[in-house]
Amino acid sequence: MYQIGEIYQGCQHTVTIHHEKIAQAHKFAPVNIPSRYIEQAVDQVSSLPGIGKKTALRLVLALLKRKPEDIERFAAALTDMHAHTKLCKVCNNLSDEEVCSICASPYRDESLVCVVADIRDVMAIESTSQFQGKYHVLGGIISPIDGISPSDLAIESLISRVAAGNIKEIILALSATMEGETTCFYLYRKLSAFDVKISSIARGVAVGGELEYTDEVTLGRSILLRTPYETSLKR
Ligand SMILES: [Zn+2]
Repeated sequence: MYQIGEIYQGCQHTVTIHHEKIAQAHKFAPVNIPSRYIEQAVDQVSSLPGIGKKTALRLVLALLKRKPEDIERFAAALTDMHAHTKLCKVCNNLSDEEVCSICASPYRDESLVCVVADIRDVMAIESTSQFQGKYHVLGGIISPIDGISPSDLAIESLISRVAAGNIKEIILALSATMEGETTCFYLYRKLSAFDVKISSIARGVAVGGELEYTDEVTLGRSILLRTPYETSLKR
């Protein structure tokens, strides 16, 4: 004889499997496309990160409704972007010129350099309007699991910039992950040979965050790395 609990659990298990099967069928359901031209466009669009076949089909069908001159502009924008965008030879940021607009700006403090992993981090920090120094984009972080070693990153060029002697402070603005911390420590070891102040971005309680829901490592760091109250008044 089954107990009621066992029967219930059995049913629940069956329902879960059923839902998983539906989800999988949905995920791998072939999209029936009646045109090979549409199909090849869908293949191209769905090769982009985060875009599945169904989303790609929706985008492609939306493009199909546009006028031919709109499509020409669309294609030309992609071709021009690919042909003319390069990496700044000083900081590795994206640029239309040899040197990016931030490095070329006389209004930015060149004695202050913020080290980030990715070009998107530059955009994120720029959107805060709180930083008036310059950047150095590493192009990733040290991650042995992903096969990324220091030699794969723009570390030598950072050292060359510091060795040139105009930089007074390096701000390490990397993710608060194991890989981010490893990269920070590696850079700290490399840069401590020079007469340069090395700081890292503050780790702490998020704005609008409740203390009781903050994880203990973050909260612990927030206490250790507390800042004078006057500093928060200036923001
Ligand atoms: Zn630059």
